[in-house]
Amino acid sequence: MTDLPILQPRSCGPCTMCCKVLGVEELEKQPNEWCPHVAKGQGCQIYADRPPTCKEFECLWLQNPEMPEELRPDRSKVVLASLKLGDGMSAHVDPGYPHAADTGVMKEFLKVLANKGVPTIVCCGAERAVYYSRSNTPERLLKIIDQLGVQSK
Ligand code: SF4
Ligand code: SF4
Repeated sequence: MTDLPILQPRSCGPCTMCCKVLGVEELEKQPNEWCPHVAKGQGCQIYADRPPTCKEFECLWLQNPEMPEELRPDRSKVVLASLKLGDGMSAHVDPGYPHAADTGVMKEFLKVLANKGVPTIVCCGAERAVYYSRSNTPERLLKIIDQLGVQSK
């Protein structure tokens, strides 16, 4: 049997991208504005007392050590998260880099997942688009995508 490499758990390191692109209800922080408590490139200045929304959130890059380093959100400018609906992802693009989900490793990654039946809703400012493969996406998710009525990629 081949020995598989043991992947170490990840840490956020210098990434603070979710502190920009995601909203935090408890702080009345809107998406796509920096949180007043962030030290950019360093971390949260109120880490021990950060709100539950922040304590509970882990992006997919953080959760999955097998994802490429280039997809770390501060490098890719995209925060990937699981959809609460299940079986899909949301991609929160830094509006300063509106094509970040359409280029390079990120684009290939989203395409591969779409072909495996995992759709991604891409959010950039007020814009919404969906990466998905109609032939592989489960019917119930297609219904949701159709209801959203957003542009497809
Ligand atoms: S986007 Fe992910 S890696 Fe970056 S700070 Fe948030 S949870 Fe950590
Ligand atoms: S409270 Fe801390 S973890 Fe939460 S968004 Fe602000 S800087 Fe980030």
